[in-house]
Amino acid sequence: MKPAATLVLRPGKERSLIHRHPWVYPGSIARVEGRVASGTLMRVESSDGRFLAWGAYSPDSTLRARMWSFVESEHPDEAWLQARLDEAIRRRAPLAARTDAVRLVFGEADRLPGLILDRYRDQLVVQFLAAGVEAWREPILAMLPFLTGCRDIYERSDAAARSREGLAPREGVVSGRQPDEAVEVCEDGVRYQVDVRHGHKTGFYIDQRDNRQMLAALAAGRTVLNCFCYTGGFTLAALKAGAREAWSIDSSADALVRARTQQHLNGLAAPSHWIEGDVFDQMKAMLAEGRRFDLIVLDPPKFAPSSQHVERAARAYKQLNMHALRLLNPSGSLLTFSCSGAVSVDLFQKIVAGAVFDARVDVQMVKRLQAGEDHPVLMTHPEGEYLKGLLLQRI
Ligand code: SAH
Repeated sequence: MKPAATLVLRPGKERSLIHRHPWVYPGSIARVEGRVASGTLMRVESSDGRFLAWGAYSPDSTLRARMWSFVESEHPDEAWLQARLDEAIRRRAPLAARTDAVRLVFGEADRLPGLILDRYRDQLVVQFLAAGVEAWREPILAMLPFLTGCRDIYERSDAAARSREGLAPREGVVSGRQPDEAVEVCEDGVRYQVDVRHGHKTGFYIDQRDNRQMLAALAAGRTVLNCFCYTGGFTLAALKAGAREAWSIDSSADALVRARTQQHLNGLAAPSHWIEGDVFDQMKAMLAEGRRFDLIVLDPPKFAPSSQHVERAARAYKQLNMHALRLLNPSGSLLTFSCSGAVSVDLFQKIVAGAVFDARVDVQMVKRLQAGEDHPVLMTHPEGEYLKGLLLQRI
């Protein structure tokens, strides 16, 4: 089939595509031949006419084109798309033994740029976050019930990434029933309620599954402080695993209401304090009161939305980690995270090391932490690695 359009790169700009990096920036483009609109599928060529990839055009974005495939004979069509979706969904099958909250498709990492698909029990939540995948919206929505066995699909194409593509936000039921206010899922034996319409992301921090389990493994008989607790994911995992007492802080009253409801739903009776407030202020107050904890979780929101914010973010991360280290009992553990893509694994480790230095405590790095296996990183697209964390132990 003859492609509708061709994107020709400038001389010398083909390297990253040869290395299968999926993005093309405007500075690399010599010209576009043919009629292109938002999402048009194009043949992408080097300046001397060699095939490099099949990609989709996004005229309003600084990611001007995202690649679907680097194989010339794999011209993307609906059958190809269905096979690729099916592969991504099948790769998640082993997780069903642990949980019914799973990310089935994770955009670039699954070679489906801009597409997010999460499953909460029998409810699907989908996000179309790039022009290319937006152009495939109808066929994708038609395939999903067949590929997943789920009829109820809710769209949450409301992320900031979408406006950078020049696409208006879109949200609502696309098939099946209006989702319950609380879709109940069960992960590693803990029941969680997910509000797919109003919750953060698609309703739940699915990506922290393994880190919730890591906390649970340390929690029996210990006191826990969960900072930026949202709906209490880490807290519930710790209480279920036998934590003695938990304090959880978040600035969102609604999130804390949900957290309390879930504590009751799970029949978790250990003393639990849900504190509405600013984490920085609350930690300072706890330090002044002489309160100390055996386990602390720091999972703040994205402090650096882009590389311009890294310096300010670094100061905030350092401050938080310093407070946490001072609140930690000897032999206590700290699970500390950053979900800022602009803060690299190395930089985050340096920032936390700076906090350790200033807190004047001896600390071991026990493990590096990352998102669960349903949020993989495509090796040719390191930008996809956003969530990073450290498990530290005070000695
Ligand atoms: N750890 C959570 C996710 C955290 S999302 C989980 O695993 O589910 C970040 C949370 O931080 C949000 O719930 C937001 O309400 C809260 N937040 C943001 N800034 C805050 C601040 N300064 N003090 C307290 N909470 C804050």
